[in-house]
Amino acid sequence: MTGSPSSTYAGKLVLFHGPGKALECRSAQWKAPQGAEILVKITHTAICRSDLHTHCGHRSVPTPTVLGHEIMGRVVAFGPSASRMDLRGEPLEPGDRITWSIYAHCGDCFHCHSGWPQKCTDLFKYGHEPVSSDGSDSSGGMASYIQLRPGTSVLKLDPKIPDHHAVTLNCAMATAEAVVRRAALSKEPAPLVVVMGGGYAGLSTAAMCKAQGARAVMVVETQTALHSRCLDFGADAVFQPEEDALKTWVMNQSAGRGADHVMEMAGSSAAAELGLELLATGGGLMLAGTVFPSPSIPVDPERMVRGCQTIAGMHNYAPQDLLAATRFLEEEGRNLPWDALHGGTMCLDQSQEAFDEAQRSPGKRWILTP
Ligand SMILES: [Zn+2]
Ligand SMILES: [Zn+2]
Repeated sequence: MTGSPSSTYAGKLVLFHGPGKALECRSAQWKAPQGAEILVKITHTAICRSDLHTHCGHRSVPTPTVLGHEIMGRVVAFGPSASRMDLRGEPLEPGDRITWSIYAHCGDCFHCHSGWPQKCTDLFKYGHEPVSSDGSDSSGGMASYIQLRPGTSVLKLDPKIPDHHAVTLNCAMATAEAVVRRAALSKEPAPLVVVMGGGYAGLSTAAMCKAQGARAVMVVETQTALHSRCLDFGADAVFQPEEDALKTWVMNQSAGRGADHVMEMAGSSAAAELGLELLATGGGLMLAGTVFPSPSIPVDPERMVRGCQTIAGMHNYAPQDLLAATRFLEEEGRNLPWDALHGGTMCLDQSQEAFDEAQRSPGKRWILTP
């Protein structure tokens, strides 16, 4: 179905006016999709840790804006020149249940051609862009509808994946997949991996590393209340960062060599610094959790040189990582206890309450439905 140019779609959206200001839920209307746009009815939006950082002022965004970028929904209508093919090459039709990349990219700039579409010079990021005061150009997940732009990678979802599992695919899980892809775990000898942080992205990373043949995975998590779920997601051990037993475990697991990979998913400079200490010869520290201003850490260049070690960063992901994350959720990861990470589900007009609950329950995803 192509939306009639005169069609309008009525719904609601939630405007964020800045830290400390009340979220404003208001009526809004969406036009039929133009050009290569696809109009989607949002069914679920999860409150990601980045949304919480923005909401409480740890990182600044232009306002007003409509937050929410872990989104899923159903296709309503296609613009006349919109692609009707998903990332797998399967046909897309109205009513299809989909996820999509957190951003739209041009596909033709230096960064797009260099394998970094998430750094496209013409990047448009859902849930991060300023909107007009009435929200009519809304592009965030805390809304009834969203207009997908050309250059957005769309993926049809297997009906067997429950909504509250699938909704995190296009941020937390795809980012975890990007981190694991860039780390390029060797098959033989199988590596020892340390994951910093037992949040959604950290647990996804740990589970993906196990699925890709890591010999052992340790998770470092500051909150002991979250330790048992780290084991449930495949970790072989979990420690608080200050425990001496942590280093002993790494050395015992590696004949004294250290960790082959450390993946920092918690957004903690202290965790990154600890990760550097744990690295084996040839080991790599991947930084992915820090998406807000954070303290610098000391790096010993001689140790890095003599140890042939690397430090790399990974922000967001490429479309192939969204596809890989979705396959993981359909296959190896389908029986993991994702339900334990779900805080609860609320309506858009309860957004303020949902943000408050999410702040109070770290490690849980709260979900909004229109
Ligand atoms: Zn996110
Ligand atoms: Zn580009």
